[in-house]
Amino acid sequence: MALKIFVDFDGTITQQDVGNLFFRTFGGASCDEAVGAYRAEKISAKELFRRETDAIGELDEVAAGEFLRGQKIDDGFMRFVEFCRKRGIEFHVVSDGLDYYIREILSNNGCGDVSFFANKLERTPTSNGSSKLSITFPHDDAECSRCACCKRNIMLARWGEDDILVYVGEGYSDRCPAQYADIVFAKDELQTYCQAMNISYHLYTTFDDVISRLEEILSKKRIKPRREAEMKRREAFVAEY
Ligand SMILES: [Mg+2]
Repeated sequence: MALKIFVDFDGTITQQDVGNLFFRTFGGASCDEAVGAYRAEKISAKELFRRETDAIGELDEVAAGEFLRGQKIDDGFMRFVEFCRKRGIEFHVVSDGLDYYIREILSNNGCGDVSFFANKLERTPTSNGSSKLSITFPHDDAECSRCACCKRNIMLARWGEDDILVYVGEGYSDRCPAQYADIVFAKDELQTYCQAMNISYHLYTTFDDVISRLEEILSKKRIKPRREAEMKRREAFVAEY
């Protein structure tokens, strides 16, 4: 039996939703319009990202670097990284945000070697110190367009029969992966969703809460999978073949 932990980035590791703030700061009000269309299910997540990226046009690299250096992460996150490392627990950040800011923020905070999966923002330098942006989606799902980076598929690809999947999140893009996890840590919007969907969860405020609850769980002789999650994982595999 091995725990495998998957952690959301925006609003979970960072204190704010960096993705939304990034697009609003550098892309302006038309990004809000695009988010509205996405929430109303009029456009896909990929289309939302394309519109937001187009709205930025050219990115001012100096201003963007400054913006990212100003982003704060959860105080306990470094201790959580250390906890997983010491215990030999596999853990990945899974995000329907952009690899660009995740990489910068993790490395600004001394954890640049953490594994993560996200959408890919290409920045091509222009002559004036800005860069032209384009976005690609290496982890999209062929069938479902609600997310651009399919966290569920990333989890399922790493799941073995004896593994216990742990998910830590807070928002919209965590709803789907939480259904496939045995142990869910939830706060904010994800907590409301888990309550509505009858998914048992542990409430947390910071990563220190996650660490102490995991220590308790790991001290047990046997950790049982969550039955509904196990069924959903099996169903997903059957659907694929
Ligand atoms: Mg989030």
